[in-house]
Amino acid sequence: MTVNKLPITKPRADPTKQNTSISDMKLPRAVLDLLELLGFSSLYPPQVKCIKAGLLDGEGVMVSAPTASGKTLMAMMAITSYLSRGPGKVIYLSPLRALAAEKFTEFKMLEKVPLGRKIRVNISTGDFDRPAGSLARGDILILTNERMDSIIRHLPKWMDQVGLIIADEIHLIGDQFRGPTLEMILTTMKMLQHKPQIVGLSATITNAPKLAKWLGVTLVRDNWRPVPLSEGVCTDYTITMKNGESHTIKKSSRGAAIEVGLESVADGGQVLVFASTRARAVSAAKKALTGVRKLLSDTEKKDLESASSKILENENTDMVKTLAGLVQNGVAFHHAGLNQSCRETVETEFRERRIKILASTPTLAAGVNLPARRVVLSGITRYDSNSGGSVPIPVMEYKQICGRAGRPQYDKTGEAILVYGGYSYTSEEVMERYIYGSPEPIKSGIIESESLQIHVLSRVVVAPGSDKTALREFFLGTLGGIQSRESKVVDMVDATLDFLESEGFIEEKQGYRPTRLGTKVSRLYIRPSTAVYFRTVINHMGKGGTTPGTASPRPAGTALHRHDLGFLYAITRCDEFIPWFGMRDGDRSMLDDLVWSNKQEFITHVDSFSCNRSFLGMHYWTDEQSETKISKDLNLESGDMHKIVESSDRLIYCLGQLVREFGRGDLIDELAMLRRRVKYGIKEELLDLATLKGVGRVRARNLYKRGLRTREQLASAKVEKISRVKGIGKVLAASIKSQMRDV
Ligand code: ADP
Repeated sequence: MTVNKLPITKPRADPTKQNTSISDMKLPRAVLDLLELLGFSSLYPPQVKCIKAGLLDGEGVMVSAPTASGKTLMAMMAITSYLSRGPGKVIYLSPLRALAAEKFTEFKMLEKVPLGRKIRVNISTGDFDRPAGSLARGDILILTNERMDSIIRHLPKWMDQVGLIIADEIHLIGDQFRGPTLEMILTTMKMLQHKPQIVGLSATITNAPKLAKWLGVTLVRDNWRPVPLSEGVCTDYTITMKNGESHTIKKSSRGAAIEVGLESVADGGQVLVFASTRARAVSAAKKALTGVRKLLSDTEKKDLESASSKILENENTDMVKTLAGLVQNGVAFHHAGLNQSCRETVETEFRERRIKILASTPTLAAGVNLPARRVVLSGITRYDSNSGGSVPIPVMEYKQICGRAGRPQYDKTGEAILVYGGYSYTSEEVMERYIYGSPEPIKSGIIESESLQIHVLSRVVVAPGSDKTALREFFLGTLGGIQSRESKVVDMVDATLDFLESEGFIEEKQGYRPTRLGTKVSRLYIRPSTAVYFRTVINHMGKGGTTPGTASPRPAGTALHRHDLGFLYAITRCDEFIPWFGMRDGDRSMLDDLVWSNKQEFITHVDSFSCNRSFLGMHYWTDEQSETKISKDLNLESGDMHKIVESSDRLIYCLGQLVREFGRGDLIDELAMLRRRVKYGIKEELLDLATLKGVGRVRARNLYKRGLRTREQLASAKVEKISRVKGIGKVLAASIKSQMRDV
C-alpha cells in the first residue's frame, strides 16, 4: 500500500461561514413569522446567500449545495414570501413519492403562517391520467415530476396562476431515464408568458453555472455543511483520511467494511453501510450482528425486542425472519424488497439511535433523510446491465452517499469511508477519483429517439397547431438542445414527427395536432412505443371472453378465449413496467411449463429471454399464492410485489383504455376483471367475496372453502356461521352482513 504518497490538503477554516442571526437581516414579515413558528433564530450561510440573490423577491435562483445545508427552509421561505405578496399557486416538485410525502408533512406548517387568508397544501403523486381539477383548490401543490408532467398534458386552467415553481433535486435532470421529464417541465415553465419564479435545489454539481444559465436564474453555490465532512479510504484494514491521518483497524473474518463500522459504533456513533446489492446488504448486517449486540444497553435491547416483534407481524417470509432477528440485535438492512411497515420500523429504530448499523442498497442514498455519524461504502463498483459487467460508480453517487454522514444534533463531524479491496485501482487512484474528484457534469438525455417520441408527442398535445419550426425551437431550448449540435436536434425532432405521424399519433393539419389516439396515449402517460406494442399484441388476439357490456364474471368453463396470462405477459414486458427482475435458470423452465399448460391464454409468442420475473410474480399473485411462497420460489419480496401490483394495475388500466381505440372493445370487460384480480391477488371465482370491506384474498378463500361462495349465499347465511370461518370473527361477520343489505 502506498498511502504515504497521497496528496494531502489541510481543511481550511473559513471565518465567513457562520450562521447569521435573523435580527441582522431585513426579512419580510411573513418570513419572520414562519421562522418563529419553526423556532429558527439564525440562518445558515447558503440560506443567506439565496436571500441576497433575490429568493424572497421573486427572483429565479438555483442552489447547488450539500445535503443538510437547509434547502427545505429556503423553499419554505420562498413560498411564504411569494404567497405574502398576493394570490397565486406554488408547485413543489419532488423526484420521489416518499420525499414528496415527507415534504407534505413539513409544508403543512405553512398553513399556520398568518397571511390574512387561508392557505392550503395539497399533494398528488400517482393517478397519471387524472386531469387534476381538484388541485385547483390548493395554494401549494406537492407533486412528483411525473405527476406534474402528466398534469401539463391535461392543460389545466390553473397553470396561469402558478407563480413559483420549486424543483427539488434538480441535478436528476441528468438521470438517463427520468431526467427528460423534469427537463420538459422546466422548459415548459420557463417558456410560459407570465414567467413564474423558478427555484432549483441541487446537490453539489460541476456544471451548475450551465444549468443556471439554461434556467435563466442566479446561481448560488456553497459547500457549507452543518456538520463538517471528513472523507477517507480504507485499504488493507488501514483507514487513510483526506487530511493525511491514518490508522489501522482490527482484522477479522467480518471484513473491513464491518470493522470500519464497528469502530464507530464502539465510539458511540451510528453507521450506514452501503452495499451494491440486496444480498450484500443483508450479508453485511448479519456480519455486524455479534459486534453490535455486545454494545447495546439493556433498555435498548428491550425496545429492540418490541421492534422485532412488530416486524414479525408481517407474513413470515425468510426475509422478515432474518430482519426481525437482526433488529433485535441493533442491526438491520434496508432495500426495496421491504414493505412499508418493515421499512418504517427500521427507519424509526435508526432515527431513535437503537439500530447502530444499517446496511443498505444505494436506494437509501437518494431517499429519506437518515443521517449517520459514519457512512461506509463497501465497494466502488456495481453491476451494469448495459455492459453486462461491473463498473465503477459515478462520483456523483459517491458524493450523494457521503451526504448522509454526520447527524446535526449529535456529531461534531461526519465521516465517509470508502472501503476498497480490489486490484484494478491503487488506493491513490480511488482517493483521487472519489475524494478529490468532482461529480460528473449533468448531461441531458432528452435528445434520444425514445425520449423524443414521448416528449414531442406531449408537446403537440400541449401546444396543438405547432409547426415544425416551433417544435424544433422548443427542443433547441431544452438543456439537451443546448448541449447538442443544432443539426442533430433538428434531424431528430423531424424524424420523431415522421414516426409519430406514421403510427397515427399526430397529423399535420395547420401545424401538427394530436389524433384521438395520440392525446389518449400522452394523457395515459405511456410511451408511444408501448402503445404500438400493445396494438400489435391486441391485433394477434382471438375474439371471445366475456360478453361486451357486461361486467359480471364468466360462468366457469364458458370462456372461449381467456387472455389473462397473455395480458400480464404483455404489460410486464413494456418499458413502463417497474420493477423489472431478470429471469434465473429455474425460472425459465417454470415459464415454459406455464406457457405449455395455458397456451390459449398467451397472445404472442413467449420469449423467455425478454420475459421478466415480475410476470411470474404476477401469475403467482393472481393464483392466490402466499407471500411466503412467492418469496421462496421467486425471491420477490413483499415490497417488490407491492410495486409489481401497482405497475400492473396501471398498465392494465391503460390497456383497457386503448383497446377501444384499437377496435377491440370486446376485451374491455375481460381487462376490467383482470384488473380487479390483480388488485386483490385472487382467482376469478373470489371476485364477489374479496372485494367486500375487511375481507381480502385470504379470508375470501376461507369463506369459499366453507361453501360461502357468492354474495347471495352470504346474505342468506347466519352471522354465526360466517363468524366461525377462519380469520373472520364476530365483528367482521356483522360487518359482512351489513354489507349484504342491498343483495
Ligand atoms: P437539505 O434539504 O439541504 O438536505 P434540510 O433542509 O433537510 O437540508 O436541512 C437539514 C436540517 O437542518 C433540518 O433538520 C433542518 O430543520 C435544519 N435547518 C435548516 N435550516 C436551519 C436553520 N437556519 N437553523 C437551524 N436548523 C436549520
